[in-house]
Amino acid sequence: MTLQGRLKGFLAALRARKKQYDDAHNFTCDVCGREVFAGERVCTACRGTLPWNDGVICPICGRKVREEGVCISCKQRRPDVERARSVFEHEGEAARLVVRFKRGEKYLFRTLAELSLPLFEQEFSNTQAIVGVPMSEKALKKRGYNQSELYAARLAELAQKEFLSPVVKQRETAPQKFLGRTERRENLAGCFHVRERKAVRGKRVLIVDDTFTTGSTVSELAAVLKKAGAAEVCALTFTSVTEKNPYGVPPKPSRGRKKGEKGRAQN
Ligand SMILES: [Zn+2]
Ligand SMILES: [Zn+2]
Repeated sequence: MTLQGRLKGFLAALRARKKQYDDAHNFTCDVCGREVFAGERVCTACRGTLPWNDGVICPICGRKVREEGVCISCKQRRPDVERARSVFEHEGEAARLVVRFKRGEKYLFRTLAELSLPLFEQEFSNTQAIVGVPMSEKALKKRGYNQSELYAARLAELAQKEFLSPVVKQRETAPQKFLGRTERRENLAGCFHVRERKAVRGKRVLIVDDTFTTGSTVSELAAVLKKAGAAEVCALTFTSVTEKNPYGVPPKPSRGRKKGEKGRAQN
């Protein structure tokens, strides 16, 4: 073997050892920064304050709802997944973890995956393959990593399921943030392409992503996976945005201020 070959092998072994070490060791809580002892990623106190999505949820999209039953947006347009579930509501420290994870704190993929494993086992243990959401080449270059795939791959590893990356995002799409629900779907239409159809054919596939907002990304991806022959497609996300009142927030009752009176009350 050439010297270069030996060096390559040595570096690969070193990387594998480092990964093994990082997977198994953790010394501070990823939420509050306090020291942890059992190698857990989030301390017991912080776990207790995280916004677990364990109340009343829509049986289809899994978002928190105010009344039991299918939520209004699923009634209007059912997402293309069989069902979706999320570990947390997109609030407080759970939402902050997602933002931090997307803004450079790459190592948090382990935390997200570990916190998601119980929900996975409860809801999706019959999954045969796990996929993340692909990014366009340009977006990947900009961020440096695909957070969804890192998270999905780690969850697959913990759950001992097959991780697949069978889809590519073939064109850049406008940021979804400022778009409405219909515009979001239009924005994404045709952006995904399944390059390995054989890999998904006949399988129960689970999409893993950081946040479920209106479900358009997950829906679009599920649609192409099903077209490629997947037997069933579900989704697990770390957080989901609680259903908003589609009729808008009712106006606040006035507090006895007379008509025409302006400005703040004086103390
Ligand atoms: Zn903590
Ligand atoms: Zn719903």
